[in-house]
Amino acid sequence: MTANSLQNIFGQDRAITWLRQAYLADRLPHGLIFAGPVGVGKAATARALANLFLCESPKKDEACGKCESCRVFAAGNHPDFHVITKELIRYHDKTGKSKGIELSIHVLRPELIEPAGRKAVMGRGKVFMIEQAELMNPQAQNALLKTLEEPAGRTLLVLLTDQVNALLATIRSRCQTVRFGALDVERVRKELGRRGIDAELAADAAELSRGSLGVALKWIEDGVIVPARALLGQIDGLFAGSPPDDLPGFFKNAAEAYAQKQLERDDLASKDQATREGLTLYLLLAGEHIRRRFVEDTDPHELETACAAIDALAQAESYLDSNVNTSLVFQQLTVKLESRAVRVPSET
Ligand SMILES: [Zn+2]
Repeated sequence: MTANSLQNIFGQDRAITWLRQAYLADRLPHGLIFAGPVGVGKAATARALANLFLCESPKKDEACGKCESCRVFAAGNHPDFHVITKELIRYHDKTGKSKGIELSIHVLRPELIEPAGRKAVMGRGKVFMIEQAELMNPQAQNALLKTLEEPAGRTLLVLLTDQVNALLATIRSRCQTVRFGALDVERVRKELGRRGIDAELAADAAELSRGSLGVALKWIEDGVIVPARALLGQIDGLFAGSPPDDLPGFFKNAAEAYAQKQLERDDLASKDQATREGLTLYLLLAGEHIRRRFVEDTDPHELETACAAIDALAQAESYLDSNVNTSLVFQQLTVKLESRAVRVPSET
């Protein structure tokens, strides 16, 4: 058994059982859609399935881990395993017209459609995995239909998405959809602990990621958890009537630290873009926290305050998209939050 085994996928028993049975019965369809939230194991499952599919001497539904195919797969450079990610957009779009957010035909053709029509390099077959398949524009999706219908040779296409409805009906009808559920927060906390993550950090990460193991691990690696916890503490303080010390400064520092991590991982990434991503992430976490805090609250003043705060956060996010000066956005946000949240002390 290889480390990259279907048996090692965490918390997706239904999806895994279905895939193993389909594989053993030789009924695996050419096209699979793995649908479910971000970070719950879709990509890990697709990799494990690809490893098995390409193995030269599998034992039942386990890759052997020893053959040439398993060896190059483990080394991360199997010539018949093709991963299509949004990072490829920048590579194929020298003009920058796609703004790096749309998987167009210019990516799909060289990365999938052409290699799918060629013979497998190692002879066992070919596997294509499209991450964030919802980023494919309609033209790209249409171009994929023929490959899905009659792929050349033994071929597997796996489309990963958290927005299955963004895929055309014609794509969905040619694929088998396998659902991946959100994980239980408690199970994610335990799994993080099992992987040696400090208990307090694990508890915060499981909660903030709302039961997504992949997201929790990425946020731990990116150093998001501690500042996020501090931010939520500041918001709680705000609603309790004590203004935060320096919210704009907090957002700026936290987003810059986030951007730094992204640049360490990918030195071609844009610092400006990564900083905005960081700001958006912390705004989102703040918004979710406020929603959760007040979901069962019936006090009309508190509800009104929460709504106003959520509006202010959403507006700040839309300003970020339109390239308004970010420190101004956060100064305004703080003023709005404070003016709404500070309550007249009740007489006792
Ligand atoms: Zn093998």
